Amino acid sequence: MEDQPIIVWFTQDLRLADNSCLHSAVSSGHPIIPVYILDDVTPGIFAAGGASRWWLQQSLASLSASIKALGGELIFRRGEASTVLSQLVRQTNAKAVCFSRGYSPWSGEQEAKIAAACDNSGADCKRFSGFLLHEPESIRTGNDGPYKVYTPFSRNCLSRDFRKVPKPVPLKVNFYAGKVAGDSLCDLNLYCPRPDWAARFAERWSPGEAGAQVKLKLFLKHAVAEYHQARDLPAVSGTSRLSPHLHFGEISPLQIWTATRHAMASADYSIDRGGQTFEKELLWREFSYHLLHHWPSLPTEPFKAEFSGFPWRDDAGHLRSWKKGLTGYPIVDAGMRELWATGWMHNRVRMIVASFLVKNLRVAWQQGEQWFYDTLVDADIGANSASWQWVAGCGADAAPYFRIFNPVLQGEKFDRQGTYVREWVPELRNMPSKFVHKPWMAPADLLAGAGVELGTTYPRPIVDLKETREAALAAYKTIRAKNG
Ligand SMILES: Cc1cc2nc3c(=O)[nH]c(=O)nc-3n(C[C@H](O)[C@H](O)[C@H](O)COP(=O)(O)OP(=O)(O)OC[C@H]3O[C@@H](n4cnc5c(N)ncnc54)[C@H](O)[C@@H]3O)c2cc1C
Repeated sequence: MEDQPIIVWFTQDLRLADNSCLHSAVSSGHPIIPVYILDDVTPGIFAAGGASRWWLQQSLASLSASIKALGGELIFRRGEASTVLSQLVRQTNAKAVCFSRGYSPWSGEQEAKIAAACDNSGADCKRFSGFLLHEPESIRTGNDGPYKVYTPFSRNCLSRDFRKVPKPVPLKVNFYAGKVAGDSLCDLNLYCPRPDWAARFAERWSPGEAGAQVKLKLFLKHAVAEYHQARDLPAVSGTSRLSPHLHFGEISPLQIWTATRHAMASADYSIDRGGQTFEKELLWREFSYHLLHHWPSLPTEPFKAEFSGFPWRDDAGHLRSWKKGLTGYPIVDAGMRELWATGWMHNRVRMIVASFLVKNLRVAWQQGEQWFYDTLVDADIGANSASWQWVAGCGADAAPYFRIFNPVLQGEKFDRQGTYVREWVPELRNMPSKFVHKPWMAPADLLAGAGVELGTTYPRPIVDLKETREAALAAYKTIRAKNG
């Protein structure tokens, strides 16, 4: 029957443009019912942290407004997804449920339950591709297995004849005219602004499809040309800051890829090096999900099994100092405070703070992963777990264990003038550049002149870098010995 509706279940695809699932439902001519379900009742599914919930609230408000502008209403529901969807099918006599697939450890089971629920209710279940450029099953090694190493994986991706074109926003949508009961966005209780700990997030971010497009345009206009050099400098706006938009699907990787290729083709000066480096970072995102899809224990278990016997230290005091940005190592503290204030941290600094936690403090990587998951607006189960494992040395294609970042040298190399540190650690604002990354080495009169009293206005280093580096290497030797 022509007027039987199709339920379009929005997942991590909170946009109208280049949304295959929405596009297909609209093209069918059937009326559509757009739905968002907050499934925070199934254990493990919605473990998103506070910063992500802040973002999600804004993103849903934005999607809801875009749907309203087209004459429809985004229905909000809360509960176990297959139960909610089968209720909706029965209530509306829907012909089909369609959605973009997920790649998380729980996605397969969840999608199978939805297919069964549709079957029982006599509705079709249509699953579309999700938030990647390449389906993880489609990229195979010569031996027909999944990749464990990034470079051949990315080569395989780049060698593909890839001619997909992003779909535009549907001009006209036939929405279901019947009444569908739902909750209000407020009822989802995603973010409660008392106290408003995310107050500064809004200064920096505009969640939603329009905000994502603005970020992409600005990046391609002003930053992509220098991306290959500037992407390592935390004081410079040299990266796209698209990660939270990508995570929530407010923009698709295909839209970004296509726009970047277009910019490279039409630039009157060469932006190829920057553009190609940027594409490689997008492929790191693909690689993270390739790993997660094939090794679903990635968020909790070390990819290299020998690391399960690693002698981690359980030091609540050190972990607290790290979280609060009070380690006495300025670049580490700057990163952790940027994270708390803005919900984001520069990639170079993420690597430095993560290395400091897992190698100098020898706190288990899962604890850092959990904190990031709670505080990042781009918290992403694929990128976060693969990156923590990469830094900890236990991941697929990980940095060799002995690569232990020295936060002083890293600071001096990538934040030479200390601009980034001064922004986030204002206690050190007046320190001369020579000592801004190692205030404990500064002569007493210089410290006094800069208004710094170590141990009072700014902490002394909580550990010694040389000693902890040696202890980390010794700890690594123990697992090497155990595993022959
Ligand atoms: C310990 C640690 C934890 C991390 N946790 C996350 C996380 O939870 N969510 C997240 O999106 N990224 C994570 N990253 C990867 C990276 O730091 C961020 O993607 C990047 O800083 C986002 O900023 P951007 O959008 O300006 O990146 P750009 O430099 O502009 O890169 C473009 C896009 O490529 C992707 N990308 C870039 N680098 C990586 C990478 N190393 N791995 C996977 N994808 C990448 C992101 O989607 C990013 O938006 C983590 C890195 C580390 C070292």
